[in-house]
Amino acid sequence: MKQEEVDILIIGAGPSGAVSAAIAHKAGYKIKVVEKQKFPRFVIGESLLPKCMEQLEEAGFLEALKKEKYQIKRGVRFTRNGETTFFNFTDQYTAGWNWTWQVPRASFDKVMTDELERRGVDIAFETEVVDVQMDDNAISTTTIRTKQGLESTVQAKYIIDASGYGRVLPRLFELDEPTGDPPRRAIYGHYSDSRRPGGELGEQATFLIHKKDVWAWVIPFSNGDSSVGFVGDPGYLDGHYDEDVNIHLRNLIDSVPYTRNRYIDNHPLNDAHYMKAFSVMTTQRWGPGFVITGNSSDFIDPVFSSGVTFATESGLLAAKLVCRSLNGEKVDWDKEYVDYMNQGVETFRTYVDHWYDGTLHDIFFYTDNVFKERFKQQICSVLAGYVWDMSNPFVNKKRERALASVSKLIKIY
Ligand code: FAD
Repeated sequence: MKQEEVDILIIGAGPSGAVSAAIAHKAGYKIKVVEKQKFPRFVIGESLLPKCMEQLEEAGFLEALKKEKYQIKRGVRFTRNGETTFFNFTDQYTAGWNWTWQVPRASFDKVMTDELERRGVDIAFETEVVDVQMDDNAISTTTIRTKQGLESTVQAKYIIDASGYGRVLPRLFELDEPTGDPPRRAIYGHYSDSRRPGGELGEQATFLIHKKDVWAWVIPFSNGDSSVGFVGDPGYLDGHYDEDVNIHLRNLIDSVPYTRNRYIDNHPLNDAHYMKAFSVMTTQRWGPGFVITGNSSDFIDPVFSSGVTFATESGLLAAKLVCRSLNGEKVDWDKEYVDYMNQGVETFRTYVDHWYDGTLHDIFFYTDNVFKERFKQQICSVLAGYVWDMSNPFVNKKRERALASVSKLIKIY
């Protein structure tokens, strides 16, 4: 059996693994990326947040991505009962990026892996990690298997597990933890979008509040197509069930006036996808010789489009810390990695909880502009992914209180 030795083995070539690979390769370490699928491949997660532009820039991917002319995303639009509210990223409180992209991920992920290969990074596509053994010195031996069934091993000083829902190390090391979140459903696909409104209105992503616990997204792409999906209460989503998942999605599109009108004479461009539950968590984010990033460690909910931003933020930080550790420097993993990532994840958890209990719907649609401006900019920064700015009362430990005060005040006014 063939045996290889590397400094860092990265499992998965999605945004998290790609950013990790860029950082570790630039630092001069011998790395190998193992990716189960052949790219381009379909994956969901198409509406990005401005915060992730920082990591894409640091990883050196921005120039290659800009050439694709993806749809610019300038803010977040929510609609409810025909009413619309728009959070424009240029108004946000935290200094930072004020735009990002809406991307077909098949293309986005392929651009980054092409760029890595151009730089000389070894990526083994259509090759799956099937086993990982860790010795007493935290040196791992990973068994990988090609599509043709050929097995070989990779010995590594560190593993960065960026395997998304593959969740390689959480599964193999039994690190799965129940999230306690209700098992919300998601069903989605790509559709032609010939009836999109003209200009900015038609170009920007829209998040529709259909019921308190059912919402939908419409994410237009620059090629004229779009992504449409429904998320939430199993009672409602499964109430439109059809054995054919494409008909199931069409039933849901037809059940909501906005999507029915927009897609009335439009057609699916791929097979729809149906997820019975999507929230995942791990008991630990790191251990001797390994670190878990992106969706492999946790994912809460798609409503605020935070997934790719957490994937790139954790991928970037994990790779930097691994490089420091390999360089003989001391790393306080709990403080520098776990606490840092938890700050971001827990902030979004607060917002996800208050989305599904309806508090945020009322705050977002509060129309008294004079009063609204005081807090809208700070909430806008959360929606842009700036959830590590501790000067923002809607981010730091006071965030529950800040949201509760606003919620109370808008009921009085
Ligand atoms: P992935 O992008 O999933 O990449 C992991 C890679 O690992 C895959 O290519 C996979 O093939 C590979 N892999 C798996 N197992 C193995 C193995 N055994 N060996 C080798 N390779 C392996 N996020 C957003 O930012 N915006 C959104 O609008 C958004 N919408 C979403 C909607 C829904 C319904 C859901 C469920 C999620 C959404 N997300 C969104 C989240 C987003 O999909 C993820 O957070 C993001 O893709 C995570 O990136 P990643 O690199 O961690 O994992």
